[in-house]
Amino acid sequence: MAEKRDYYETLGVQKGASDTEIKKAYRKLAKQYHPDTNPGDSVSEHKFKEATEAYEVLSDSNKRAQYDQFGHAAFENGGGAGGFRGGFDFGGDMGDIFGDIFGDMFGGGRRQSSNAPQKGVNIRANIRLKFEEAVFGVEKEIQMNIADPCETCNGTGAKAGTQPEQCPTCQGAGQVRYNQQTLFGTMSSVKTCNHCQGTGKIIKEKCSDCQGSGFVRKNKKMSVAIPEGIDNGQSIRLKGKGEPGKNGGPRGDILLTVYVEPHPFFERQDTDIFYTMPINFTQAALGAELEVPTIDGNVKYEIKPGTQTNTRFRLKGKGVPRINNPKIRGDQYITVIVDVPQNLTERQVELLKEFAAISKENNNDNSDKKKKWYDKVKDVFE
Ligand SMILES: [Zn+2]
Ligand SMILES: [Zn+2]
Repeated sequence: MAEKRDYYETLGVQKGASDTEIKKAYRKLAKQYHPDTNPGDSVSEHKFKEATEAYEVLSDSNKRAQYDQFGHAAFENGGGAGGFRGGFDFGGDMGDIFGDIFGDMFGGGRRQSSNAPQKGVNIRANIRLKFEEAVFGVEKEIQMNIADPCETCNGTGAKAGTQPEQCPTCQGAGQVRYNQQTLFGTMSSVKTCNHCQGTGKIIKEKCSDCQGSGFVRKNKKMSVAIPEGIDNGQSIRLKGKGEPGKNGGPRGDILLTVYVEPHPFFERQDTDIFYTMPINFTQAALGAELEVPTIDGNVKYEIKPGTQTNTRFRLKGKGVPRINNPKIRGDQYITVIVDVPQNLTERQVELLKEFAAISKENNNDNSDKKKKWYDKVKDVFE
């Protein structure tokens, strides 16, 4: 067996080279000497194997440490000729770097046969809803540019009266098998047929309506049922309404992400609605029947005398229906804010001074006086 070259020398790096330098050096050599770039060239093949073996060891910190200490002897216990010694695991980092390199070389790495049925592409779009539309659900019409199989050629892409022919290179398989010399011996691999781009078919005369693609794009109008209770950011899937599949695969989906416009005075949190209602100070002091707007229309709500600002009330069941169980609705919360009157008239000032005087009287028995005062004040302030 010929004298083995030093691994660092093989990769052309210094002994103290960093992992990045090692990887870079290997990538360069692997590209240069890969059997696919040099078919039938045994010198290149040997160099490729040599570089790969060196990289296997030097890219692994444990193996590199052993190699630095013992040289090639570290790995020479029981390996078969030409194979890796010590049962190296051909995974992990090697998989990554091969993915990179093969991706660069063949444009796509492990590509699936494009002859197989493939689901069509999903289309993503946004849909804008009014606050109430999201709460109660709505039927919306949307318009989208989506492909359909060409009617002229029935999706074959071939000119009317002609048919696509089977690709002579791959006999319609869309893939070609080839042998590759690797460290493990000869390996059989498949790659996409270049002649037919993996379709397995050759179109001699193209359909003029779809330029041979087999598809035509159209603006399509469709009606979408928006479920009640949907919220901002949620999406609706229209199954099978997206781009058509290939080779008999199913259509993709349409995914509509909902954007709910803010309401001028309602705020929504999940299924609850929040509303801030200004009341004047006589309503707060004397109690009142309020007309509260809800998403179902105005409702009456009685507040007690002496209601403080920032008090919150709950209207049960006046919120948003749950999306998956619309019979159950959230609640509406009303926060009342007491308006302090501004720009007072002379009469109003006079009355407030009177009120201040009553409040100052140092006895607990002024509630009658206050009541009378409120009766006077009601008309003046409301
Ligand atoms: Zn082919
Ligand atoms: Zn066509």
